[in-house]
Amino acid sequence: TNTTPAYKRILLKLSGEALMGDDSYGINRGVIERIVAEIGEVVALGVQVAIVIGGGNIFRGVAPAAAGMDRATADYMGMLATVMNAMALQDAMKHQGLECRVQSALNLEQVAEPFIRGKALRYLEEGTVVIFGAGTGNPFFTTDTAAALRGVEMSADVVIKATKVDGIYTADPKKDPSATRYEKLSFDEAIAKNLKVMDATALTLCRDQNLPIIVFSIFKLGALKRVVMGEGEGTLVHL
Ligand code: UDP
Repeated sequence: TNTTPAYKRILLKLSGEALMGDDSYGINRGVIERIVAEIGEVVALGVQVAIVIGGGNIFRGVAPAAAGMDRATADYMGMLATVMNAMALQDAMKHQGLECRVQSALNLEQVAEPFIRGKALRYLEEGTVVIFGAGTGNPFFTTDTAAALRGVEMSADVVIKATKVDGIYTADPKKDPSATRYEKLSFDEAIAKNLKVMDATALTLCRDQNLPIIVFSIFKLGALKRVVMGEGEGTLVHL
C-alpha cells in the first residue's frame, strides 16, 4: 500500500457538534481527545495541519437572531464560542504533546494571537498545528466559509470537512434508506443540488480558487488518516 500522504497541507474544518459527541451541548472530553489523537497521527505523517473550528455546540447566531436578537450581535457571540472551542482543542493538543497555536480573527489579545497570515504559514512549515478561531471575524458568515477562506490563504491542498456522515449522499441517509453516497461531485453539482455540504459562499470560494473539499465522518475511526492517504474515504468535491 501507498505510504506517502496525498496532501502536504490540509485545512481541517471541525464543527462545534463534532466536539459534542453524544452530548447535547458543550465539549465532550473523550471525544476531543480521540479527535486530537487522530490529528496527531496525520501530523506524524509529516502533513501540515490548519484547523477551523465551529461554535454550534455552544452558540449559533441564527436562532437567537430569529428570536429577536440583533443578528450581528448574535453572530459575534457565535464567533466568541468558536474561540472557546479553539482553546479547548489547543489544551487537548498540548496534553498529547502536539505543538499548536490559536489565531483569532477577532482581537482577544489576552487569550489568543491575532490572525497573521505570514505567521500562520511559518507555524505550518514548522509542523505546528494552527487553529483559527472566530471564523472570518465577520457577522453573516459561517465557519465553513472561514474554512474555505483560510484554506485558500494558507494554500492548503484540500479542505477536509468533518461531519457526522461519511460523505455526501443523494438524500438524507437517516430519512431515506435508498440514499447513496457520492464518491465525487463537482462544485457546480453540489451548489445546484443544494446538498447542504457547505454553504454556497464557501463552495463558490473553493470552486473559484480550485480548492477541493473532502467531506468525511469524524466518528469513523481512522477515517481522517485514510482521507489524508488518499484512500477514497468520504466524498470529494472538485472542479
Ligand atoms: N460566525 C460568524 N462569522 C463567521 C463564523 C461564524 O458570524 O465568520 C458565527 C455565526 O453566528 C455562527 C456561529 O458563529 O452561527 C458558529 O459558527 P458555525 O455555525 O459555522 O459553527 P458550526 O456549525 O461549524 O459548529
